[in-house]
Amino acid sequence: MYNRFQEFLSAELNDIKSAGLYKDERIITSPQGAEITISTGQKVLNFCMNNYLGLSNSPDLIDAAKEALDSHGYGMSSVRFICGTQDLHKTLEKKIADFFGTEDTILYAAAFDANGGVFEPLLGAEDAIISDSLNHASIIDGVRLCKAQRYRYENANMEDLEKQLQDAQANRFRLIVTDGVFSMDGNVAPLDKILELAKKYDAMIMVDESHSAGVVGKTGRGVTELFNSVGQIEIITGTLGKAFGGAIGGFTTGKKEIISMLRQRSRPYLFSNSIPPVVVNAGIRMFDMVSSTNTLQDKLHDNTAYFMNKMSSVGFDIKPTKSAICAVMLYDAKLAQDFAAKLLTEGIYVIGFSFPVVPKGQARIRVQLSAAHETEHLDKCVTAFTKVGKELGVIK
Ligand SMILES: *Cc1c(COP(=O)(O)O)cnc(C)c1O
Repeated sequence: MYNRFQEFLSAELNDIKSAGLYKDERIITSPQGAEITISTGQKVLNFCMNNYLGLSNSPDLIDAAKEALDSHGYGMSSVRFICGTQDLHKTLEKKIADFFGTEDTILYAAAFDANGGVFEPLLGAEDAIISDSLNHASIIDGVRLCKAQRYRYENANMEDLEKQLQDAQANRFRLIVTDGVFSMDGNVAPLDKILELAKKYDAMIMVDESHSAGVVGKTGRGVTELFNSVGQIEIITGTLGKAFGGAIGGFTTGKKEIISMLRQRSRPYLFSNSIPPVVVNAGIRMFDMVSSTNTLQDKLHDNTAYFMNKMSSVGFDIKPTKSAICAVMLYDAKLAQDFAAKLLTEGIYVIGFSFPVVPKGQARIRVQLSAAHETEHLDKCVTAFTKVGKELGVIK
């Protein structure tokens, strides 16, 4: 049979290529950071990493990882509830709850698993999940695994959310689900208004803080900090793979009965391996750092404001945001691709996004700021954007 299947796959792959959607991996030969080396030998400035706090290659976290190798070994060879829980796992879960002002936390191998395993154990066919249309793929998959009735509202559209909540009034329990920051526009979920609607229509809230934790809010506690709603959200999910060190790992944190039920019934927790102590101990060190000083959060916020101001003042059309994602709007797909390619020859590594990742006619370059960037990096980036922007007739 494989001959026939092989032909089928080759044809599909060719279709993906001819649609310009084929994803190639660019190979990096250095550690992750603001300045990286790619396999061609070229050194470039990296503006497309989720390394918001610049911790991916932090000497402190590397030390913590090495210490854990000596004290707690390499692998757990078990799921958490059999023999895969060390003191370190419990400590990290507590630190995460303290950071977010929540009652308890459960760790997962990734936020993808946290979202994949959160709905099905908690809600049934008589319940309602009311989900933002631009929520992350892992939320969409998690919702699919659950028997609850599905309602969808247009991205951050509160009139539509209200309408969906009205439609869901007959359901037993209602859960509104939103990303904290949406990754393509960098827009922040209007959690203040979501909270009002949740009160008015008797619903619970889940926020995925993967792109917002460490970033949004004065101390990086995420959108719950930005909207003064710490402790008021039933479920928060997040990743250790972005601002928080960038290695791997995810979590669900929130009301203690919810977390207890996840420990009983959440399938990615019950049937998938425990996170290795190297990652857990670095995570503990990381939460100690970001809880005790605000240096990295402040630097990220300063960098973001500096970059956005400069980019608008040279004439680029950028989306306003409180996140560290700067969407430089170019609208045309080919232009976005050409623009990103030219920037790479200028030593600036960014990615152009077009349909189907963003709506038709909304192509853009997404720039992600980091506390790892120095002012000279930001200036070089703006200079390169200005040069290429003039060449391609985007700015005057
Ligand atoms: C990145 C991301 C995830 C997935 O995180 P992993 O830990 O890499 O699986 C989930 N949700 C959102 C909103 C994200 O941005």
